[in-house]
Amino acid sequence: MCSHRGNKIVWDNGGSCRMFTCKFHGWSYGLDGKLTFVPDEERFFALPKETLGLTPVDVPDEDWAARSQASLKAVRVGNLIVAPPWDAPIVVAIRPSMGFGTGHHATTRLCLAALQALEVKERTVIDVGTGSGVLAIAASLLGAVNVRGIDDDEDAIHAAWDNLALNPAAIVTLLVGDLRHTEFEPADIVFGNLTGGLLMASAGVIGALAGTHGKLILSGFQADEEKAVVAAFTGFAVERRDEEDAWVCVTLKRDS
Ligand code: SAH
Repeated sequence: MCSHRGNKIVWDNGGSCRMFTCKFHGWSYGLDGKLTFVPDEERFFALPKETLGLTPVDVPDEDWAARSQASLKAVRVGNLIVAPPWDAPIVVAIRPSMGFGTGHHATTRLCLAALQALEVKERTVIDVGTGSGVLAIAASLLGAVNVRGIDDDEDAIHAAWDNLALNPAAIVTLLVGDLRHTEFEPADIVFGNLTGGLLMASAGVIGALAGTHGKLILSGFQADEEKAVVAAFTGFAVERRDEEDAWVCVTLKRDS
């Protein structure tokens, strides 16, 4: 049986359904497997049924085109990516520099993965120890608002500025300062990709940045420090944990 849907014919040949996009302007298969030249739609339907062994049937358009294409993924061609909207990648451009965070270290990647597990759109973010700015820029590109990055290393903040210019869609406020002595309004999401020692010593300050409902994404420590780091953040519980090459990243949320 052959059914006609828009410019396609669907060919149900004894159970297996095949779709042809011949638009009736070329060769089409008959049930006998032989090719028949079909110059146009009018002539196609005018062909003696015995020739094709087919009966055209009008069927409702069930949006088959959209459904059949729903699983399409992005394709990369050289330096171009052609992507359907649901698979369009977000690119964070980072120039390798003195600012830590090109995405090549496990802890940066773990933080980026933890971020994407959270609702980011319209959420506020503080990135303490922003380095290259990679986490702050990524959060902004994912739809976060009022994104702030702080680092006590002036060179890192310069690098973060440069990277911000490479990502014109990102809006991030950058500040040179020591996280232990800088006052910030609390945020919904707080990054701290630092060291185990600094996280433990600054747990009170960093925890306060999460306010009453914010979440902390912490990394920069190894599995053997994890217990002590997590214990330092009193009033928080582990919501998510990831590990790569013994580097750990935890997402903490208020435990009440
Ligand atoms: N956020 C980036 C960089 C992490 S490296 C990433 O995830 O890849 C840690 C950064 O913390 C460094 O840039 C370092 O300069 C900064 N840092 C270390 N101690 C700090 C402090 N007391 N206050 C602010 N920043 C600090």
